[in-house]
Amino acid sequence: MIKPIVTHDIHKKDNPKVLQEKTRRITDFECEETRNCVKDLNDTLDQLIKDEGNKRGAIGLSANQIAYPLAMSAVTLGDTRYMFINPEIIEKRGHDRLFRIGCFSLYEYRAMVRYNDDVTIAYYDPDGNRQTIDLKGDRSCVVQHEMDHLDGLLLFERLEHKEKDLFVPREALYKDGKVPLRNHGKIFELRRKLGLNKTISAPIWYSSLFNDYSDYVSLVEKTSKEYRTMLKLIEQYTPVNGKILEAGNGIGALSVYLDKKGYEVRCCIEDDDMRELAQRINDQNDSSVSYVSGNMTSLPFEDKAFNTIFSYEVLETLDDAALEVALLEGLRTAETYIFMVPTIKLNANTLKGNERLRTREAWEEFLNKNQFEIVESNEICDGGYVIFAIK
Ligand SMILES: [Zn+2]
Repeated sequence: MIKPIVTHDIHKKDNPKVLQEKTRRITDFECEETRNCVKDLNDTLDQLIKDEGNKRGAIGLSANQIAYPLAMSAVTLGDTRYMFINPEIIEKRGHDRLFRIGCFSLYEYRAMVRYNDDVTIAYYDPDGNRQTIDLKGDRSCVVQHEMDHLDGLLLFERLEHKEKDLFVPREALYKDGKVPLRNHGKIFELRRKLGLNKTISAPIWYSSLFNDYSDYVSLVEKTSKEYRTMLKLIEQYTPVNGKILEAGNGIGALSVYLDKKGYEVRCCIEDDDMRELAQRINDQNDSSVSYVSGNMTSLPFEDKAFNTIFSYEVLETLDDAALEVALLEGLRTAETYIFMVPTIKLNANTLKGNERLRTREAWEEFLNKNQFEIVESNEICDGGYVIFAIK
């Protein structure tokens, strides 16, 4: 029988106890409870796979997730269904490493959890025969996650660094291929409810994005209209093989893309971890962007060292004084400054991070007041973003 999944809502106090209590070892393989549990676990996991797919070649469900307090997990590895009854790790050969995992009982989350990546598990099959299996990588992770369930441990209780290892997954946040940063607010909100620190580590955040799009072409061309619009403008204002600076870069995907198109590209960011991650992405894409440490309000470059400087969803985090300095600095080092910022039209009720949202008109007023010449001003995404080119 297909059973409903028992879920845990972190915003509530009266959650079902079955997920947070250690399950009972099975001693009688013939009894009705055991046999029903085997059947219901199989049926329910079949349905989940039908609904969700078996995206990474391994997917599992534990008995307490369908309200049986028994030490039993169903796991599909490739095309094979295993029923792990009373499982235990009998050998660890690999390294403990962080895996990015999700859970049907905490559906809106992903977390980074550390598991050994090469283990031997001993378990009983539904006929009561003792078996062993060697598991590596994702398979090792999935089975150990199910074993956590059997111990009554949920995802968020396994976080090593509560301050940074919790996510809301891309798919829950990014509807219609829109860019991620806009929804930082939602993450802040969820983290606040969990009692975690308000800020999320950018490298961890981007790592999760990068896991899904290790290929810069996919990232730039397939995910986001904002990226494409931004690129068009950068190319319009930069001569062939010209020099470009990205100030306050994130993942640096646009820079990698521009490098591949023959431009000479540098990125400048203060955060060491973020710079390291961008460098890693650059290296993996076999690209030659150079990464420099520096603050947007005092760029470590000569006057007019670049044709174009651009910033992608970062200037809205500066206060007016810093913003003016950053724009002046940008135009000292380059002829044209192209930047994209979210506006107040952008789903404002989900943005509770450090963005300072204003209307397009307010942006224009700010730029005019400070005597920047607006040479382009384009609204995109129904006015949710505006892209400026200024001189
Ligand atoms: Zn789970």
